[in-house]
Amino acid sequence: MEFFELKPVEEARLQFLQACAGSSPPAESVPLPDALGRVTAGAVVAPADLPPFARTSVDGYAVKAADTFGASEGLPAYLKVTDEILMGHAPMLALKPGEAQRISTGGALPEGADAVVMVEYTEMLSADEIGITRPVAPGENVMHKGEDARAGDTLLPAGHQVRAQELALLQSAGLLRVDVIRRPTVAIISTGDELVEPEQTPGPGQIRESNAAALTALARRDGALPIYLGKAADTEEAIRVLLHAALEYDVVLISGGSSVGTRDLTSKMIAELGQPGILVHGAKLKPGKPTILAVAEGKPVVGLPGHPVSAQVVYGLFAAPLLRQLQGQPAEPPFKPVVRARMTKNVASATGRTDCVRVRLRREGAEVWAEPVHGKSGLISTLVKADGLVTIPSSIEGILAGDWVDVEVLA
Ligand code: AMP
Ligand code: MG
Repeated sequence: MEFFELKPVEEARLQFLQACAGSSPPAESVPLPDALGRVTAGAVVAPADLPPFARTSVDGYAVKAADTFGASEGLPAYLKVTDEILMGHAPMLALKPGEAQRISTGGALPEGADAVVMVEYTEMLSADEIGITRPVAPGENVMHKGEDARAGDTLLPAGHQVRAQELALLQSAGLLRVDVIRRPTVAIISTGDELVEPEQTPGPGQIRESNAAALTALARRDGALPIYLGKAADTEEAIRVLLHAALEYDVVLISGGSSVGTRDLTSKMIAELGQPGILVHGAKLKPGKPTILAVAEGKPVVGLPGHPVSAQVVYGLFAAPLLRQLQGQPAEPPFKPVVRARMTKNVASATGRTDCVRVRLRREGAEVWAEPVHGKSGLISTLVKADGLVTIPSSIEGILAGDWVDVEVLA
């Protein structure tokens, strides 16, 4: 048996992601601290002005800017100090022309004041008089009421990923819960007669199952809730049972048995699972040719190669964008955090094929160099040695030593 048709990676990915696009993902409300890394299910609106009152951004004196115009070291503007505004309290007095009030960073501006002079540009003349040695413009050193957000403004749009700064913004608005997209559940299945569970000692010809550990970690990193369903022997019945159980979850990842040999039953069992079935069997990809992309009963199914390196590369190319899409994010982010580096060696790549090259990074002066880590895709230590991956797209025949590349750092 042979692969029916090897698909270019880009085409395979597009077809798969389009087939998996559809209904908007379900939402849930979570307490703010649990929202880190999650994606907003709807727009979050400011219930009130932020900041709720005009505040100073420096230590100094609240003034009317017009009173400082023309002030200089040689000819300071003289102002009467009428009060000191205490932190956490409303100002007691309105500010009249010719007056100043002492104020600390974050303090509330008194009525009548429109700017703050930094303490560095003032001199104390007596207990209640200062000289100002530099003019301020209206609004200078002031955070206006509602300048961060006005009541009714969108604080966060739908589909926005929550980071530390989003948590701070929501908390300052008094929003203690936020509606986020539910984490997709991911069923993970391993296949292979040779596999034993990690706590077992492998007998002759056996190896410990390890793909589930990596796939669980990657899915969790990508915001999903992974569940390992166990390993299936290389029999139709064993694979069928676990695949059916996996349809309870939002996404199915099954590794091993995805090629076209006599013991490779995964594609046959996925094809039986439901409609529309297999979209892609075989990708023009190295490592990762035996890739299966399918949709069964509305559930995305990714058949990953058994070789540990291939499984992780295929996860990154197809499952990671799927999980982003299922969480309301663009499958292809508009920008990715990459390191620009120069390749140390020529790397060949067949035309039409996408190559994912493991690289180790090292800095030399102002430049970062990417050294290919060679080794078979069954050797998991090669990924441990690698700092990142360089993708050689199908349109390119290879990379020359010294060429600049984008390295996707393996987190
Ligand atoms: P397969 O895709 O089933 O032909 O497997 C390719 C290679 O990957 C074989 O050497 C398998 O023993 C190995 N392999 C498959 N599944 C796993 C797994 N879950 N953990 C570790 N190695 C695996
Ligand atoms: Mg196998």
